[in-house]
Amino acid sequence: MSLENPQRYTVTAALIYANGPIHIGHIAGCYLPADIYVRYLRATGKDVAFISGTDEHGVPITIRAQKEGITPQEVVDKYYGQIKRSFEEFGISFDIYSRTSKPIHHETSREFFLNLYNSGNFTEEITEQYYDETARQFLADRYIIGVCPVCANENAYGDQCERCGSTLSPTELKEPLRSMLSGSKPVLKATKNWYLPLDRMQPRIEEYVNSHPEWKTNVMGQCQSWLKEGLRPRAMTRDLDWGIKVPLPDTEGKVLYVWFDAPIGYISMTKEWAEQQGRDWELYWRDKDTKLVHFIGKDNIVFHCIIFPAMLMHENNYILADNVPANEFMNLEGDKISTSRNWAVWLHEYLNELPGKQDVLRYVLAANAPETKDSEFTWKDFQTRNNSELVGVFGNFVNRAMVLTQKFCEGKVPPKGSLTELDRAVLDELAQFPDRIGQAIEQYRFREALAYLLDLARLGNKYLAETEPWKVAKTDPLRVNTILNLALQISANLSIVCEPFMPFTAEKLRKLLNTANITPEDATGTAFHWINAGKADLLPDGHALGEAVLLFEKLEDDLINQQIAKLHEAKRMNELATKTVPEAKPVIQYDDFAKMDIRIGTIVEAERVPKSDKLLKLKVDDGTGQRQILSGIAKHFEPEKLIGTQVTFLANLAPRKMMGLESQGMILMAEDRDGSLSLISPDKAVWNGGTVS
Ligand SMILES: [Zn+2]
Repeated sequence: MSLENPQRYTVTAALIYANGPIHIGHIAGCYLPADIYVRYLRATGKDVAFISGTDEHGVPITIRAQKEGITPQEVVDKYYGQIKRSFEEFGISFDIYSRTSKPIHHETSREFFLNLYNSGNFTEEITEQYYDETARQFLADRYIIGVCPVCANENAYGDQCERCGSTLSPTELKEPLRSMLSGSKPVLKATKNWYLPLDRMQPRIEEYVNSHPEWKTNVMGQCQSWLKEGLRPRAMTRDLDWGIKVPLPDTEGKVLYVWFDAPIGYISMTKEWAEQQGRDWELYWRDKDTKLVHFIGKDNIVFHCIIFPAMLMHENNYILADNVPANEFMNLEGDKISTSRNWAVWLHEYLNELPGKQDVLRYVLAANAPETKDSEFTWKDFQTRNNSELVGVFGNFVNRAMVLTQKFCEGKVPPKGSLTELDRAVLDELAQFPDRIGQAIEQYRFREALAYLLDLARLGNKYLAETEPWKVAKTDPLRVNTILNLALQISANLSIVCEPFMPFTAEKLRKLLNTANITPEDATGTAFHWINAGKADLLPDGHALGEAVLLFEKLEDDLINQQIAKLHEAKRMNELATKTVPEAKPVIQYDDFAKMDIRIGTIVEAERVPKSDKLLKLKVDDGTGQRQILSGIAKHFEPEKLIGTQVTFLANLAPRKMMGLESQGMILMAEDRDGSLSLISPDKAVWNGGTVS
């Protein structure tokens, strides 16, 4: 059962590894739905703590450090700053965005561990783990390389084969195994770690999960499948040198498992926030009237629905998550989003390349969020939704209401006259929208909520189309007043209910409507807050509107094609990166080489061979005269640009006829990784006919 009428909310969004920038998949999966939810709660006057930050421990950080040739600390410092800035610019309204490297987090995690240890809630187990004797450390799965048992890839990792995508464990890898650290062969060595005996806790966890039949089916499905398989003890410490040291004697080289300390980050970050605010953090984690909601992606379900609750249960006085509305994944242009393959739309690049368009991306990602199954982002869909929904429906309605008011009512809100049946029906419907949108948000159905929002703009468009104020103006100006009053009240309502989804647009719309000058009549000071949404008197009669500017701009093909081209270029670069140098040819003797007469000459004439898209006809000055050489390089070089260039050519190649022309030699070329060709020219001018040896 979900908590009814909570006194306050603790809302968390996944702690992302600080080992790379964020992309649209992260945003659609977790941060945007969380932000919509929190903005709605705040708008309805709720007490909320919105908590998130970066996860700065764990193997992914050390891997990144090794790749970039910097320290793990440098990695997390670099990405924490970048991620935090991107979120801010994008309008994700965290109350705190912190990091797990803070002392308060280390302290809180150690305390948590020691409590569990001292109350006898851990078991100690000795297991055999792979160890690198040269680097003198145990190896995380990712650091062990061997042969993939599925596709025979010789460079498969101990946790995954990147070639065939199989999930692996180090013991499944075929020989020869080697350590990524030193290249030496890892050996098995005994080590002691502390385990959370989830098997013993299964009944309590089952009871907890089953008490929430309202959870999303994708979340419930994963939980039930784990429970059905039977929970097993899980190690809460690791042999690693990066992370929070295990707070027990004789545990050199051991740290807390990253999935032990990361969720505790929600608590330590709440503490940090509460301290800044002069609030009591315990209310947000220990009061049974607090509703705790974790927003995450589907890959983190087990940690938030089973392992973290199990940790909290032992502490007795913590509340457990009321809901974990995890999303599925978002794909991109027909392929899985991948950081390592650079197949992504990166938020910091989007913000740079499409400035001022935060709300377009927020709208498209929310409209297409992977709420119940994987979804897909394409740039064409982005363009269509912007042009036909934001510009064509939302922006068009507001603009018509504004422009007609400028034209017929001197830019001031006209008074309502008597209402027709149609007017009353429209006002009745208007009154229902805030609840309709709010309820969908409260049930984590953000796509549906957003569709209702657009329906409200459609209602406005339909009303104007049916009442035709531009025609009525000639005969009945009082009627026009009523129509435009209603249209403006609908616009004012849009500025309230669009705020959780599109905060930048809400602000812009309020400027258009000049709402800063409206003093609320009641004492709440909340004329433009959700509490008053649905009302038809938000804008008083005679109120002067601001300037009518467009809320949204049409996106042209050029811009969209640039983004698509950029993605395809990333894909091409990736494919090139996997290319290897061609295999060596068999050994030859010096005499074989000496037979070749390689010389320097200058190209004096160059033209295309008619009817051939490959061949160029070149005249080369070889020091004794000019010789004709045909070369299959027409796709790589403009003939005019070759004239005057010194090149290397094979002078004693037997003459050959091509397209009826004789070729007396061969120009030498270097082929690059991507297949492009490059001339071999001397690094200073050499006399024509000079030999190469
Ligand atoms: Zn494989």
